[in-house]
Amino acid sequence: MTQAKSPAAKATKRPAAKAKPKRKAPSVDNPGKVLKRSRYSKAETYAIFQRFHADNPEPEGELDYVNAYTLLVAVVLSAQATDVGVNRATKHLFQIADTPEKMLALGEDRVREEIRTIGLYKTKAKNVILLSEQLVRDHGGEVPEDREALEKLPGVGRKTANVVLNIYFGHPTIAVDTHLFRLGNRIGIAPGKTPLDVEKAMEKAVPAEYSLHAHHWLILHGRYICKARKPECRRCVIYDLCRSPEKEPFDSLPEIAVRTKALVDREAAS
Ligand code: SF4
Repeated sequence: MTQAKSPAAKATKRPAAKAKPKRKAPSVDNPGKVLKRSRYSKAETYAIFQRFHADNPEPEGELDYVNAYTLLVAVVLSAQATDVGVNRATKHLFQIADTPEKMLALGEDRVREEIRTIGLYKTKAKNVILLSEQLVRDHGGEVPEDREALEKLPGVGRKTANVVLNIYFGHPTIAVDTHLFRLGNRIGIAPGKTPLDVEKAMEKAVPAEYSLHAHHWLILHGRYICKARKPECRRCVIYDLCRSPEKEPFDSLPEIAVRTKALVDREAAS
């Protein structure tokens, strides 16, 4: 007599599930598949910025400066360097040279020495001297409140001009750095193939009342929470609103998102 096999014995061995290939964070060099439009409605985008505002009503940049000129120099030095590293190098430099005239008196060799801990310091020292010369020659030593004039300065591109216009002059510009580019595409709020595409999409998406601080909120969010290698979704204030396929699934909403949503609701009710 043949013995009936138990269900366990009948079960055939399943092949091991294939690990999902890890999604690469979008970057300027490799934006990946770019969405045609934002993943969010106007109301949803508004809700995202309400959260950022409730969490940090007055966001600030992390570069140290004492006037428009030192901000401009700090931003030029910050290309491919951390803000902490730039602040360390400029602490003494700005004590001895906080105007283009003083920087020119210092000379390129001395500037190079002062900033030698920062990447690309030789090129940057040259640009600091050249842009100081141009400021003195064409703008009476003042930093112009004008994008075109700023972009004519050596070492100053669209991103740097946008940062200075936003932080110092209070224009609602969006400077797209590596963090903003990643966020625009990863969460799909302002998709674009190039930084300029993302900038234009951000300008369209960000509600007018939040446009002054949008740049800061997004930079800080990208730098500390929605990081390139592994987003820290557990610490994300927009967790429940985010539609990124890279969002980490949890059984319950992260505490920070619940708390921030409650702040927004309270503000709306008052
Ligand atoms: S939930 Fe995760 S992926 Fe979405 S914005 Fe927050 S940190 Fe980024």
